Amino acid sequence: MKTLRLPKPRLDFFASVLHKFGEVHAPVEHDGHYVFRRLARWSDARLTYTRTMLPPKKYVLPPRETLFRYRPDSGYVPPSKDPDTRIVLFGVHACDIFALNILDEVFAGPYPDPYYQARRGRLAIIGIDCTPDEHCFCRSMRADFVDHGFDLFFYDIGEYYLVLVGTALGDDMVIATGPLFEEVTQSDIDEYKRRSALKRVAFTLDVEIRDLPEIFELEYESEIWEDLGDQCISCGRCSLVCPTCYCYDVTDEIDIAGGSSTRTRAWDSCLFATHALVAGGENFRSARADRIKFRFYHKQRGFVAEYGRPSCVGCGRCSTACPVGIDIVQIIQRLRGVSDVARC
Ligand code: SF4
Ligand code: SF4
Repeated sequence: MKTLRLPKPRLDFFASVLHKFGEVHAPVEHDGHYVFRRLARWSDARLTYTRTMLPPKKYVLPPRETLFRYRPDSGYVPPSKDPDTRIVLFGVHACDIFALNILDEVFAGPYPDPYYQARRGRLAIIGIDCTPDEHCFCRSMRADFVDHGFDLFFYDIGEYYLVLVGTALGDDMVIATGPLFEEVTQSDIDEYKRRSALKRVAFTLDVEIRDLPEIFELEYESEIWEDLGDQCISCGRCSLVCPTCYCYDVTDEIDIAGGSSTRTRAWDSCLFATHALVAGGENFRSARADRIKFRFYHKQRGFVAEYGRPSCVGCGRCSTACPVGIDIVQIIQRLRGVSDVARC
């Protein structure tokens, strides 16, 4: 992987060239939160943000999308032009890139999802390093560093950015901006290592995940799940903000008078009361306790069995979004029998 450096005063010029590669989106401030959004101007970008409300999954799996339409006269009508839009998403943290890599694996599985893959193929990712806050535990989830899934990745090393070039597209971006980038020096490398070590000790949350699937197996009947079921209000926010939750619902809207019909998919949540409702009125998880247990088990145990790692990347969004204060780290520690949330 090629590594270069970019003097910080040249970042604005670099950003001004990116429109050649697509619409430029980045985190911006909105109503006291951060959101990924198309930039009206580069100065709106907030590259030292904590976390966005919604993760980058909204670019590859939109909250609602039309899969196709059907017209009686012309038959199948393909989806809108939207997936043709190329997007350069600037300022994605390592955990969110890690989450996209997980989604890539899921949507490339035995039944590749063409809608997801079309959008992903048109999404360029420029990553940026970050500083953990009190909700981050990506280090525990081994997602505080990524070695693929980005086109470029920027590390702040003081007067420069250390820039990893991850793909040929990233290389094209570097080449398109002429001599902006420079060779790295030994002192750049030393500064990168110094800051990397500082980041490691900046985490205040620590979760041991090595035997977590076994702990979950042993605690399947724990009273914790009933307690959580009593607290949870099934709003689904935790899964909607999660960068790796990918459940969706597909509905057909059919004009029985013979007009055109539409097939739509929209985000779903395993916390919703109807998620496991099937024909005949049977609901496999009608109790809230069963639904919240299912979410935890799928992330920390079922996904490990299928993909070799948990699907949680430790971004902290579910804990910050939950209106009743259900905190994933506290639950894991309680299952482990640890009374206080472990601090590094
Ligand atoms: S489960 Fe929570 S902490 Fe883990 S990836 Fe999803 S939102 Fe982030
Ligand atoms: S955000 Fe909290 S209250 Fe809402 S469904 Fe998730 S755990 Fe339950």
